[in-house]
Amino acid sequence: MASAFAHSLVAVTAGKLFPSKVQQFKFFALGIFCATSPDLDVFMHKLGYSYSHVLGHRGFFHSLLFSLILAIFIKIIFYYKTPIMSKLGLILTAYFFFCAASHGFFDAMTTGGRGVAFFAPFDNARHFLPWRVIRVSPMSVSQFFGEWGLRVLKSEAYWIGIPCMVVLFGNWMVRKVRRRS
Ligand SMILES: [Zn+2]
Repeated sequence: MASAFAHSLVAVTAGKLFPSKVQQFKFFALGIFCATSPDLDVFMHKLGYSYSHVLGHRGFFHSLLFSLILAIFIKIIFYYKTPIMSKLGLILTAYFFFCAASHGFFDAMTTGGRGVAFFAPFDNARHFLPWRVIRVSPMSVSQFFGEWGLRVLKSEAYWIGIPCMVVLFGNWMVRKVRRRS
């Protein structure tokens, strides 16, 4: 996994690119939830599922299909007054899908683990992207608060933090220019 901080930053950055009218606290909070919750699958091994099982860590809960199911579920529960096939409904679902899917995408760029089952449950093969540049985060919170955690945050600041800041700054500039014209 990449750390929950990095996944959350990606969700907030992406949310800032969406129309201003949807950018409420609930929108970002749910985006962060979608971007971080796939890692709850680390508890699946307590239920007897191994890492390499389709329900194990980085399995189905990190897949594109799960991202879509989660996005639709979150949209229906938290924005039930907005029809899902309306423009706003589709925008919200797209954002939650992006947040959830981004989780697997960034995990597939980490230096450890077994890769991400993007196409589970149809295909449990684990994949990495060609660029494995982000230091893998420890599974336990206690291990995170130490030298390992610091190295992870440093690598994420470089590979996720700086690009997010560039996107946020670019977005801010574009909106400022648009408001003036
Ligand atoms: Zn993960």
